[in-house]
Amino acid sequence: MGILQIILQNLGHRPRTRWVNDPVPFPENYRGIVLYHRDRCIGCRICAYVCAPAAITFTDNADQSVDWCYFIERCTFCGRCVDFCPTVALSFDRSAPDVTGDRSRHRIVKQVPHRNCPRCGKRVRPLPQSLLKRHYGDTLPTDIVELSCLCEECRRRGISERLKRAYEGREQTEWCPVRTGGEDDD
Ligand code: SF4
Ligand code: SF4
Repeated sequence: MGILQIILQNLGHRPRTRWVNDPVPFPENYRGIVLYHRDRCIGCRICAYVCAPAAITFTDNADQSVDWCYFIERCTFCGRCVDFCPTVALSFDRSAPDVTGDRSRHRIVKQVPHRNCPRCGKRVRPLPQSLLKRHYGDTLPTDIVELSCLCEECRRRGISERLKRAYEGREQTEWCPVRTGGEDDD
């Protein structure tokens, strides 16, 4: 086929390529970059543990804060971090990532939320409300709200103290299945 014939044939066609600004529909299960939802993270580090290429890492800072770090260039988009995150704090972006030659934009760093334990002042990662609600329902027992603010050690001590008071019949806990009446054991 001669070149003139090809040109004439193509004149009758619409462009065969997409216009650069045409939106491309993404497939339903498309995996873009991993998004971090700070309000749900409990800093358990499971995402880093299951990430084979070490695209997710954690940095312990001198001020006791911890950073969640994600290096996009190492990510294979396997989805293990998203699947294993116990609080659904990770998800996939459903859009195309920016095309850039600036490598610093491929490294995402977010600080894992912390607050001070009201008893001992130690820095602790708070339990997300969404997680507590999943276990206890929309109305959280007062005990649970109080205990969830404490560090692990103070929480353990607080639970023992309350259990002791409940067994002695001095306190009725909302969450502890301790009998405080004078029922006989079976
Ligand atoms: S993102 Fe999820 S898996 Fe990773 S530390 Fe936070 S809660 Fe744990
Ligand atoms: S999608 Fe896979 S490779 Fe990417 S950060 Fe998550 S676990 Fe790592």
